[in-house]
Amino acid sequence: MSARTTGSEPVVQLDGLVKRFGDVEVLRGIDLQVARGEVVCVIGPSGSGKSTLLRCVNLLEQPSGGRVVVRGTDVTDPDCDIDAVRRHVGMVFQAFNLFPHLTVLENCTVAQRKVAKVGKEQAQQRAQHHLGRVGLGDRGDAYPAQLSGGQQQRVAIARALSMEPDLMLFDEPTSALDPELVGDVLEVMRGLADEGMTMLVVTHEMAFARQVADRVVFMDGGVVVEEGPPSQVVDAPREARTRDFLDRVL
Ligand code: ADP
Ligand code: MG
Repeated sequence: MSARTTGSEPVVQLDGLVKRFGDVEVLRGIDLQVARGEVVCVIGPSGSGKSTLLRCVNLLEQPSGGRVVVRGTDVTDPDCDIDAVRRHVGMVFQAFNLFPHLTVLENCTVAQRKVAKVGKEQAQQRAQHHLGRVGLGDRGDAYPAQLSGGQQQRVAIARALSMEPDLMLFDEPTSALDPELVGDVLEVMRGLADEGMTMLVVTHEMAFARQVADRVVFMDGGVVVEEGPPSQVVDAPREARTRDFLDRVL
């Protein structure tokens, strides 16, 4: 089923999102929208709440306040069927989190079979299609340990794509990779963006943010300090905190 039929409502809408761990307020009222087909990169220092924000979108963390609306569904509503929402949201983590005892192809079919109840043959076809898309069409029988980190991360992307998501969340997908393996993963992500995938990407790759993001969001201390097109936020930041951060990473 194509889910690209829901009109112009944002795919993600955060209204005053607050997240506390005990007494510590990690997200302090985040307002953010991601439109269909948009690529939004979130940048900011370590500990600023970027991962927590991403994890609140698919309720890996339970928000303490505010609203999280995904594809028109308020996921903070206790009656919300979060599994139904998650089926349309792919997530790729810094650590690839592949199942080590399953082959590459099985890694890409297991959620389809068990969560989305897709038949075996169709699941394999889809998996094969997406493995081809990430340049690993011939590695379906390999086990994760036989692949490089960059290849494993591309499998993780193919696995997420095999669920035919409407939205992809990336949390520093290249941070754990050796420098020479980063490019292939970014290339796959760039291809996805070109095909119109809606993407929310936490990254320290400023060149990627510059070239691929429609919008860059700079977070610090649990708030959005500045957001706008990369030509503004990355190349001509208005806020001192953004400038300080960029001076350190660029
Ligand atoms: P970032 O991804 O920007 O580095 P995080 O969202 O991981 O930041 O973390 C933001 C803050 O929340 C940090 O101070 C971190 O220690 C804290 N934090 C994150 N997860 C938890 C948790 N499960 N329990 C307690 N504190 C947490
Ligand atoms: Mg993080």
